[in-house]
Amino acid sequence: MDRQQEFVLRTIEERDIRFVRVWFTDVLGTLKSVAVAPAELEGAFAEGIGFDGSSIEGLARVYESDMLVRPDASTFQVLPWRGERPGTARMFADIRLPDGTPSNADPRNVLQRALSRAAEQGLTFYTHPEIEFYLFEEQLGPNGQPIPVDNAGFFDHVPRGAAHDFRRAAISMLETMGISVEFSHHESGPGQNEIDLRYADALSTADNIMTFRTVVKEVALERGIFASFMPKPLALQPGSGMHTHVSLFDGDTNAFFEAGAPYQLSRTARRFIAGVLKHAPEMSAVTNQWVNSYKRLWGGAEAPAHVCWGHNNRSAMVRIPMYKPMKRQATRVEIRSLDPACNPYLAYAVILAAGMKGIEGEYDLPPEAEDDVWGLTDRERRAMGIDPLPASLDHAIHLMEESELMAETLGEHVFEFFLRNKKAEWAAYREQVTPFELEQYLDRL
Ligand code: GLU
Ligand code: MG
Repeated sequence: MDRQQEFVLRTIEERDIRFVRVWFTDVLGTLKSVAVAPAELEGAFAEGIGFDGSSIEGLARVYESDMLVRPDASTFQVLPWRGERPGTARMFADIRLPDGTPSNADPRNVLQRALSRAAEQGLTFYTHPEIEFYLFEEQLGPNGQPIPVDNAGFFDHVPRGAAHDFRRAAISMLETMGISVEFSHHESGPGQNEIDLRYADALSTADNIMTFRTVVKEVALERGIFASFMPKPLALQPGSGMHTHVSLFDGDTNAFFEAGAPYQLSRTARRFIAGVLKHAPEMSAVTNQWVNSYKRLWGGAEAPAHVCWGHNNRSAMVRIPMYKPMKRQATRVEIRSLDPACNPYLAYAVILAAGMKGIEGEYDLPPEAEDDVWGLTDRERRAMGIDPLPASLDHAIHLMEESELMAETLGEHVFEFFLRNKKAEWAAYREQVTPFELEQYLDRL
């Protein structure tokens, strides 16, 4: 047993923890949990705990359904919303096959594989997400629409507002669980909020996003409201994105920084961005994985629908923030296409892989887009070499299906499962006759 595992066992004794939840994620990014009695933990660290994976989305085909979960002691945290004594704790786990090898169907493993490929080049991938979400009243409105908890807008301070109290409660719970919050504010939509997590290595960030979504939902429930990470819950209001700031470090050195270069961006950074842009359309099905994701992407309101980059250009898919021009550690790139309903492990894995491909393939960065790309005509965009992101999940699926990079990064199992699942989602969606159609056509046609 290593020191972290010993620490976990000691803490469980000292704090009277009676239940330990072992967390993992299915291919679509839904959190799964098995409760383990503390007495079983020593064995769980050594050999893993067996479970039947066949009921979990994408984890196994029936014939290979026996799986092991191996808790990762470095992720141990007490769950603050479960009360003090006796307490409940959680750890993230890796999924293993019965022979102990990592399961290639485990999204955490997909990210770990992408990270170790970057580590072979001496590089560590850091990410910092800005997570947007809506807070709604518990009861839907008479027409079945969700009702936002307030009518405030961007950065509004609402005295005694539900959102303000909510953010304070959520942030203090996150901090109790060792997740540092950098920034939080009311976003542009009514009831829409944003909380930004401090940057960390991508595996910790992805774990933190899973915890974050759970904490935000728990805190909302406690307060008699509900939180949603749906990318576009209200047709006439902005969608919710999960812009992610990324950088690569070589030891303590920020590999994205070069003094004196345009925007302080090193050649590595430029090639990384070029990789992310070039492969953006084929990774959209992962970074924006739902039918509804494309209603945000194509809904304006500062969501990106076109593949381009710019300095401080909020309509661009990749933005170079300029808050601290001379701070080398802070030089980073903001990717604005992701939404908060993605599977963060898979999304960060494909972004890293696309960026690494740009570095290894020595891709050239196209010229930056200075204009508001929404304001240009299709023809102008074409002349500038600015391609659109896929317009629908269907379109995204087709592009992904053709992508070697996606197949390679996700691994055959996740790649195939994901496509199958998303095709079924699209087919179910396409079958619907929507209120829009009835309204537009029923009388007229
Ligand atoms: N809500 C916008 C989006 O969906 C982003 C607004 C912002 O710039 O933070 O990407
Ligand atoms: Mg925002």
